[in-house]
Amino acid sequence: MNLGLNNKVALVLASSKGLGLACAKALYSEGAHVIICSRSEDNINQAKEEISKLKTSNSSNRILGVVNDLNDENQIRTLVETTLNEFRHIDILVHNAGGPPSAPFSEISRDDWEKSIKLNLVSFIHISKLVLPIMQKQKFGRIIAITSVSVKQPLNNLILSNTTRLGVVGFAKTLSNEYAKDNILVNVVCPGPTLTNRMEELIKTQMNDLGKSRQEIMKIWIDNIPLGRLGRPQELANLVVFLASDKANYITGTVVQVDGGFVKSSL
Ligand code: NAD
Repeated sequence: MNLGLNNKVALVLASSKGLGLACAKALYSEGAHVIICSRSEDNINQAKEEISKLKTSNSSNRILGVVNDLNDENQIRTLVETTLNEFRHIDILVHNAGGPPSAPFSEISRDDWEKSIKLNLVSFIHISKLVLPIMQKQKFGRIIAITSVSVKQPLNNLILSNTTRLGVVGFAKTLSNEYAKDNILVNVVCPGPTLTNRMEELIKTQMNDLGKSRQEIMKIWIDNIPLGRLGRPQELANLVVFLASDKANYITGTVVQVDGGFVKSSL
């Protein structure tokens, strides 16, 4: 199937590992130029090497790596400027960032709240402000925000995620209304439990908190997933690629989970 992604320019945030890297790989394989970023140059170089080994439908698509801390507004501006200087346009923005720590409300400090809101919500607002005028000029844009199933069903001990990510949903939905006239589509994707470094960290925290083995903790997760296993990063990336593609031209303002059935509500 031709997804129409050849030579599209895709800026994928927090993409040296995990879900961000999986999205960058999938977009590259479909022929897009990808800009990957994270805070560590070593991790970026490793990710670039992995991506460059993939088969791609385009013989000339490129990968650009940029060191970037999403907590720093100036670095976000530089990232957008660098992308634009190199590729002249930005067609696809995948917003992603590190996840907030897991703890009950009583253990979350004011500083934790501020950090989480800054990284997961404010960075999305900053980059959208910069990228939207570019997409408006192009009369084309696809913005996809990676959040969590916590926007559909609060997760125990993840009050930071449960709260902050709903701000992302409200912001994205509003953008989808305001910018549809410019052919800019904005959607939110919600990973369920997916095997990445982040998930391994959560599993370790739960092993300590509950005094259980890895196997026991995995069983607790899996018992709540009708498909009977954790997700693979590629499975979220498949949805991101679809939403970025020509096949999704009439889809905007949605919030879609990739979770093996983990969310129990009907909507
Ligand atoms: P991960 O820890 O494997 O990868 C996170 C990436 O974010 C890394 O590349 C890291 O370098 C980068 N990053 C972290 N802080 C950054 C910053 N300040 N600036 C720039 N880059 C930064 O995590 P993941 O599992 O891929 O998760 C990605 C997002 O999806 C997180 O917000 C996570 O909470 C959310 N999520 C993950 C799962 C899951 O099961 N894996 C489920 C629901 C939601």
